Amino acid sequence: MSQAQSSVRPAASQARRIVVKIGSSVLTRDGELESRVFGDISRQVAELFDAGREVVIVSSGAIAIGARELGWSEGGRSIREKQAAAAVGQIGLIEQYRRRFVRRGRKVAQVLVTRSGLADHERFINARHTLLELLRIGVVPIVNENDTVATEEIRFGDNDNLSATVANLIGADLLVILTDVEGLYQTPPRDAAKPKLFDVVERVTPEIERAAGGSTSAFGRGGMTTKLEAAQAAARCGATTVLCNGRRRDVLLRVAAGDPVGTIFTTGNRLASRKHWLAFTTRTHGELVLDDGAVRAIEHGGKSLLPAGIVEVRGKFRVGDPVVCVDSSGRSIARGLAAYAFDAVERIARRSTREIVQMLGYSNGDEVIHRDDLVLLEDPSE
Ligand code: GLU
Repeated sequence: MSQAQSSVRPAASQARRIVVKIGSSVLTRDGELESRVFGDISRQVAELFDAGREVVIVSSGAIAIGARELGWSEGGRSIREKQAAAAVGQIGLIEQYRRRFVRRGRKVAQVLVTRSGLADHERFINARHTLLELLRIGVVPIVNENDTVATEEIRFGDNDNLSATVANLIGADLLVILTDVEGLYQTPPRDAAKPKLFDVVERVTPEIERAAGGSTSAFGRGGMTTKLEAAQAAARCGATTVLCNGRRRDVLLRVAAGDPVGTIFTTGNRLASRKHWLAFTTRTHGELVLDDGAVRAIEHGGKSLLPAGIVEVRGKFRVGDPVVCVDSSGRSIARGLAAYAFDAVERIARRSTREIVQMLGYSNGDEVIHRDDLVLLEDPSE
């Protein structure tokens, strides 16, 4: 067992700030609410608060609960039906938690967010302040995506990825993803008599991605793939992730005590919060194709992106918009905030910095993306 493997469970027991993501498949079964599970999870979260830990819940279930209230047999077929079901069900979802926390002397808060809202850095910071204030006054924030305004284009799409963004928002050191299976299986559980779990995952390899392939449930949008994405994103903001069965009694308390439950993912190279936001929460508005020299300078030289290394500009972006940098084979290398709009970059691409003023009649600086506004997409330690 490597050092990272042997120290990772104790690390979970040291976590002070925890994001708990609860999937629809944990809270409902065959379209019916699992009252016992709501009660069990709420009790455990309340106990963690009482012990001085801070917990933010990211809860799915609005669509499932709404569909049940509307008498629909499934979660709604079209996006609009799903949005309508979520609008109905969000009330019941919060009410389920509110009732249970009240018994333990705790208040809950409803926090609805969208990707496009959080992709704006000022709003991202505002959301952080709200969440931290709620925690300071001992209230349990319950986050969900605002499905009314989030259509396919602009949504997180799944609460797994949203939970990693929330981990970055509050500077969490632990993300617990509660689902209806025991963890990440080495082989699909239906293929083996005694399915084996991964205990510790240090790096998401293609083999691990294959093991995760192809599982989805009727109401949650995620499946295992988005859980791996969330674990990887959480690792880059310094949070350990535990994936485990939310129906098991005291599972949260056991995870928070460092017990070996489910699958645990170790942390990676920690990005500063703003860079994490840039890499995982923003949506890009354009693409810059770089030559090999610029790719090397950015990936290994810690350099800014200069106009000379850009060979092609795709998409229409404005000054300050996030863009993705790709190499000649189309591999995404980095994300950054553009210092020039797309039409200006088209004119200065392949040119030296000296020619910027000559070509444009002004200059926003030598860099098309300054290093401070740029983040590499792959963890350099991997
Ligand atoms: N926001 C959706 C809901 O509350 C769930 C999304 C998901 O499960 O990932 O039902």
